[in-house]
Amino acid sequence: MMRTRRALAALALVLVAAVTAVTACGKEGSPPVKGPQTDKLPQYTVNTGFRLTDSPTWNKAERRGHLVVGVKEDQPYLGEKDPASGLYTGFDIEIAKMIGASLGFDPKTIRFRTIASANRETALQNGQIDYYVGTYTINDNRKKLVGFAGPYYMAGQSLLVRADEQDIKGPQDLAGKRVCSAAGSTPYQRIQSDYPNAELVAYDTYSVCVDNLLTYQVDAVTTDDAILAGYAAKVPDELKVVGKPFSEEPYGVGVPRSDNALRFAIDDALEANEKNGNWKKAYEATLGLSGVPAPQPPPIDRYPAS
Ligand code: GLU
Repeated sequence: MMRTRRALAALALVLVAAVTAVTACGKEGSPPVKGPQTDKLPQYTVNTGFRLTDSPTWNKAERRGHLVVGVKEDQPYLGEKDPASGLYTGFDIEIAKMIGASLGFDPKTIRFRTIASANRETALQNGQIDYYVGTYTINDNRKKLVGFAGPYYMAGQSLLVRADEQDIKGPQDLAGKRVCSAAGSTPYQRIQSDYPNAELVAYDTYSVCVDNLLTYQVDAVTTDDAILAGYAAKVPDELKVVGKPFSEEPYGVGVPRSDNALRFAIDDALEANEKNGNWKKAYEATLGLSGVPAPQPPPIDRYPAS
């Protein structure tokens, strides 16, 4: 009973935090709300007159009149959708917008589509989205199916547990424990191959895993530190991130595999926005709120077309 009530209170907090994140401010005299600071976000200059006629994806977007970008909607400070307004906020959303502006599209006109980890490759292959920005690790297996611009951020796999957890301090303690991750993700695959004694549970999204952690259905949630820090920051009394990151997860922008023109244009956009300060400003107004100061972005890997 006690457990359920505490868990419900925590869930309510997550929801309240998600809603207030966008409306900001709060009542007079109430403490400031920790959410994306809309007034601190960069304004991206639209590269009007830009053309990329070698890119089938760009040509299609140009005819349509706007970009369609795949993202996450339940990852605090990275990609979050406000259920009331339908607006998306977070670091990945800013990355999507700065790229859009460089490609000649007004970021305000981008249509965001929520796509879960397991469905990213098919969404790009079917042309459902023009590009994807959502904690998407670049690796050789995925490169057989899609292209990656970037990386624009370096994350690492970590563990989220309840605040009163004593036994789990790192992946070596997962034997016999129920561990939750998202289907089709690299953290899921790593537990499966490197920690086979863990009882692995998969859902479509990490927020469902976090609900299961708060209600004692699982003992830990595993994914990238950047994602877990956001959930922990929303309910610090209930959740904590433990141990050191145990992988490297370079985040890339997913594009259709054969569209090298689009991939290189996005590499250019990322490089330009890292140079002009937009990347750092965007980080500080979003992901920086979960406590980690802005790192140096990793070098762009402009791998040759194949
Ligand atoms: N970065 C990891 C991946 O791409 C985990 C986060 C996610 O599922 O989006 O699989």
